[in-house]
Amino acid sequence: MNAQISPRPDPHALVGGFLARTHELFIDGKFVPAQSGQTFDVINPATGEVFAKAAAGGAADIDLAVKAARKAFDSGPWSTLNAPGRRNLLWKLADAIEKNAEEFATLESMDNGMPLMMARFAVAGSAECLRYNAGWAGKINGETPTISAPNHHVYTLREPIGVVGAITPWNFPLAMEVAKLASALAAGCTVVLKPAELTPLTAIRLGQLIAEVGFPAGVVNIVTGFGDPAGKALALHPDVDKISFTGSTAVGKSIVAAAAGNLKRVALELGGKSPVIVFPDADLERAIGGAADGIFRNSGQVCVAGSRLFVHQSVFDKVVDGVVERAKKLKVGSGMEPDTQMGPLVSQKQLERVSGYIQSGSEEGAEVVVGGKRVEGKGYFMQPTVLAQTNRDMKVVREEIFGPVVCAMPIDDDDLDRIVKLANDTDYGLSSNIWTRDISLAHKLARRIKAGTVRVNGGVGLDYALPFGGYKQSGWGRENAREGVEAYTEIKSVSVAL
Ligand code: NAD
Repeated sequence: MNAQISPRPDPHALVGGFLARTHELFIDGKFVPAQSGQTFDVINPATGEVFAKAAAGGAADIDLAVKAARKAFDSGPWSTLNAPGRRNLLWKLADAIEKNAEEFATLESMDNGMPLMMARFAVAGSAECLRYNAGWAGKINGETPTISAPNHHVYTLREPIGVVGAITPWNFPLAMEVAKLASALAAGCTVVLKPAELTPLTAIRLGQLIAEVGFPAGVVNIVTGFGDPAGKALALHPDVDKISFTGSTAVGKSIVAAAAGNLKRVALELGGKSPVIVFPDADLERAIGGAADGIFRNSGQVCVAGSRLFVHQSVFDKVVDGVVERAKKLKVGSGMEPDTQMGPLVSQKQLERVSGYIQSGSEEGAEVVVGGKRVEGKGYFMQPTVLAQTNRDMKVVREEIFGPVVCAMPIDDDDLDRIVKLANDTDYGLSSNIWTRDISLAHKLARRIKAGTVRVNGGVGLDYALPFGGYKQSGWGRENAREGVEAYTEIKSVSVAL
């Protein structure tokens, strides 16, 4: 992992003032307490200590937020603002995030646990995402199809879908929230955002900037709170036109059921169990680095994490030993320490979940080659872990662990059909990684792997200009790129008899 050492900011000076405030919901352009008056604790995963409190929004708050978003969409200034107006606001928000980047990165690192360097990268990416989508605001076009009926002029219109409910996870909080907001706002929708309860802080700070840069009231509303009741109320709400959800496959399925009431549109970015396939002709040093980074980055709490490592038997020991060596050298610690390469897991629950998977792997016969234990002391730290002697029937191979745990398995022949079968032997289909110098083999495999993303020799996994999403139970629809913006539109056919 190539973490760079940079000077440690004084966290108190940067975020002390913000943390000391009472955090409220952002509804109709104003910060207001939850109607129940309730709050919940925000815990720093590096210490296990409460360091802030956020408002616990519920169904009544969601209802107010949806009403504000509806008004802004139907009759407020947003409904008449032209595309350049939307573009300029998105651009201003990007500038404001950049201006406050160090504060955002510090909050994100304290809230989620990720190393500060990674948080800085995610914050810069969020500003970039807003600018990329700002460019789409004026480029959402219909078509003029050629139809079979004579003497007609026909065209299609792409119109914003309406009020969007955005429900996001805790693993890259700001980046996930902005990915939804940027595309939805570029398309002309209004949004009610329900950030993850484990990491609400950067969303609240974002709400302040949204107000400051001049978004009209009600265009973006932010309701912090728990999945049940707040997220559930949003998914059930009859006046929400679309839910865009990123999170676990289990909750994704409940969103689909909740959305059935008014048949709202649903986009789902869900879990993964992505394969990493290493062939003997690959640049093995790079493949080893890529495999280690792909599972230990953000403590493995990454939806595209390469958690199934398939290595050709002729280089299996070399590659697995290489990943093990990297695991041993990783500096695990608080994200706020400048030399930390891997931070804590996000919560006690997540620590127990990951430990439980390692235990179940051991019971089913897996060998813990390195790691396998929590790091003693305060905070939710887990050792980077490599499991060998694993097979397709084990829970650790079938289920998403969402922790720094990789299952290594040898590929014992050169039959491409068999390799394709290994890679696709999962309910998920989010991402995949191929390491080989054989161009033909790489492209043949790329076509046959059932996943929304195929990365060859460490190709980028995420770029705002590349559609991102899953096959199978990794989700419905795509985020980013033209597809991501168009997902927030309805298409209308207009036909004129001449
Ligand atoms: P989660 O499903 O527990 O929670 C996600 C969000 O849904 C949170 O805001 C939560 O409050 C809300 N929620 C929970 N129950 C709800 C309900 N009944 N109705 C409505 N909303 C509800 O997921 P998580 O633990 O926060 O995140 C980890 C999961 O997210 C992993 O499975 C990971 O793979 C997935 N993920 C996917 C992507 C992707 O782009 N495909 C990206 C990041 C994370």
